Amino acid sequence: KLYNMVQDLKGNIRVFCRIRPAFCAGTRNVIDFIGEDGSLVISDPLKPKKDGRKVFQFNRVFGPSATQDDVFNDTQPLIRSVMDGYNVCIFAYGQTGSGKTYTMSGPSGGSTKDLGINYLALNDLFEISNQRKSIISYEIRVQMLEIRSCTNDNGLSLPDATLHTVNSTSDVLNLMKYGEVNRVVCSTAINNRSSRSHSILTVHVHGRDPSGNRLRSCLHLVDLAGSERVDKSEVTGDRLKEAQHINKSLSCLGDVITALAQKNSHIPYRNSKLTLLLQDSLGGHAKTLMFAHVSPEEDSFGETISTLKFARRVS
Ligand code: ADP
Ligand code: MG
Repeated sequence: KLYNMVQDLKGNIRVFCRIRPAFCAGTRNVIDFIGEDGSLVISDPLKPKKDGRKVFQFNRVFGPSATQDDVFNDTQPLIRSVMDGYNVCIFAYGQTGSGKTYTMSGPSGGSTKDLGINYLALNDLFEISNQRKSIISYEIRVQMLEIRSCTNDNGLSLPDATLHTVNSTSDVLNLMKYGEVNRVVCSTAINNRSSRSHSILTVHVHGRDPSGNRLRSCLHLVDLAGSERVDKSEVTGDRLKEAQHINKSLSCLGDVITALAQKNSHIPYRNSKLTLLLQDSLGGHAKTLMFAHVSPEEDSFGETISTLKFARRVS
């Protein structure tokens, strides 16, 4: 109850933080504490405990043991509001390897267990569509977009925009597999596999009741490119330009959400392809949820702090 009140006061922007499990047991974990109230305490591995502690506050924090269902439970009300005519954007932000794709799509390797929000959301929308079919008839279409840096013209390109009508979750699974295969993956100093593009699953919902009233809304599910800063000594040429584009488009997204949270009169949508594309679903009555993904290992501390600061700025 109280949680809902806080949400209402905060308006239409919320931020959830998710910490993925540590990969190897030996490394030090920098996350000291996760509160039920959305607080998180992190400590700088290079400083004595009492000096290096920082506290962050979000709407929710999901620890390493949170399941996909736990995360979906708290996301579901937002997703359901799409069926009532609200536009919704859900973003996964964080450095490469922090769990963005896990949250949105599911585990790497194409397992059909532990599927993520993209799948659970569509499943839920189909279910609601079925429940309401005597009062309203829905049509659900999906579109998989990828915004990737295009180093030739210093811009960003949208390679595919086909709209697919989907009638079941298995239709959606097939489409997602196809999208995953086509995703641009290239090697970087960090991980050898780093997604350098934003991938967007857009769900278009059209509803019509027997007296002809119509409803139209969209749900954008966005797996953002890795937010890691580039070390100019490690990447050069096209790779460097590409990385700078990515970082610029992420900071533009931060600027837009911050401006919305502060209710500024000017919202700088036009500064990036991503925000321009999502303009109708950011601001106004639209609802936004940002997942800030962090890795718990001490060698990620710098990136983790920068992700937490980004997330605090937009909340
Ligand atoms: P990103 O998309 O941010 O680069 P991934 O989602 O690919 O990161 O996650 C990196 C690895 O960690 C993957 O193998 C993924 O399956 C695993 N992983 C991420 N988050 C979790 C989690 N919450 N539980 C279990 N495994 C996870
Ligand atoms: Mg990924």
